[in-house]
Amino acid sequence: MKLNSDLEEIRSQFPILERVLPNGKKLIYLDNAATSQKPECVINAMSDFYSRYNSNVHRAVHSLSGEATEAFELARENVAKWFGLPDEGKVIFTSGTTHALNLCAFGWARVNLKPGDAIVLTEMEHHSNIVPWQMIAEEKNLELRWVDVNQETFELDFEDYKSKIIGAKLACIIHTSNVLGTRNPVEIMVEMAHNAGAKIILDCAQAAAHERLDMDSINADFLAVTSHKMCGPTGVGALLISSDVFEEMEPVEGGGDMILEVFKEYSTYQENEHKFEAGTPRIAEAIGWSAAIKWMETLDIEEMHRHTLKLAKNASDGLKRIPGITVYGDHSKEDVSGVVSFLHETLHAEDIARLLDSMGIAVRTGHHCAQPLMRRLGVKATNRASFYFYNTLKESEAFVNAIKMIVEKFA
Ligand SMILES: *Cc1c(COP(=O)(O)O)cnc(C)c1O
Repeated sequence: MKLNSDLEEIRSQFPILERVLPNGKKLIYLDNAATSQKPECVINAMSDFYSRYNSNVHRAVHSLSGEATEAFELARENVAKWFGLPDEGKVIFTSGTTHALNLCAFGWARVNLKPGDAIVLTEMEHHSNIVPWQMIAEEKNLELRWVDVNQETFELDFEDYKSKIIGAKLACIIHTSNVLGTRNPVEIMVEMAHNAGAKIILDCAQAAAHERLDMDSINADFLAVTSHKMCGPTGVGALLISSDVFEEMEPVEGGGDMILEVFKEYSTYQENEHKFEAGTPRIAEAIGWSAAIKWMETLDIEEMHRHTLKLAKNASDGLKRIPGITVYGDHSKEDVSGVVSFLHETLHAEDIARLLDSMGIAVRTGHHCAQPLMRRLGVKATNRASFYFYNTLKESEAFVNAIKMIVEKFA
């Protein structure tokens, strides 16, 4: 599918893109790194579940439950296929990336790391890939080693990673930055972690939205992914696991569905993914995510990403020509996502966002859940416009013009 000729067709799949805001302005949605919009097929798949076969899974023999169970487990298979999991790989459904990272911390690291062991993080991490490790480090007396970010290239200091991974037991690395757009060289970082005898988990919340991740070739032990940034519903994501580390994990939550047998004295657990999915799982959400994946399969993801990058680069180049604006990120490279973080030297980031909102343009403002990175950049907050494949060049231009106008008028 060629994107440019079909952009209107793709946009027509997203009812919200027609939205007119209460102030009468047509929506220009540039907050895709926070959550993407959902195509009609995803909304319909969830509505279809609730109107035709809503039922709990794995529990009853009645037909409805059979249909729901089948759709839910098919969703798991579709997720596994989309992310290129090897046959022995596992998909544990979680509420999103944050939950997946916590599951790795409390289900794997808590069990397998010993006092004095070291975990490697980077200054580029999202709080979701920081706080769980701080909690585990405190509980188990572990060392956290931080890899620097270079403020000029907006890349990880690779030499720093090289030296800090030596002797570490686990690396927790952001695949693609939600602030800078930088895509880290994760394939090499995985190899280096394994050569050093460390396991590695990648935070793929952003990456999964922009590229077809293949767990088999990335070869990481764990990937944390989320549905809601890749056209699927909120409330579901997954911890994707290569086989051998799965055997080393212990459940974090106890309850129904994760057990084999329960006695007064003790309980025995399921052997498969269900062991980590206590209680009624995210049935409608998993079905919705699966519909998003099935839809994305019909699109040319690489072509769509090139389109997204073109819009981001147009915005970044345009912003750089406006006096007083600094852009955090290098959009001349290919290895970036659709985010453009920027700041004006005197105008307050929040004021800029509010003025943009009055023109119908939605962007993010704040620390983007990455305060250590903000400190490295020497700022408290930035404005962030984040593009996705359904955005248009016209929207990117309208955004730059809006900033130009705001700066001329208010700075
Ligand atoms: C959004 C995001 C998260 C959190 O993901 P949720 O699925 O919302 O929990 C974590 N890391 C990065 C890089 C993100 O962009």
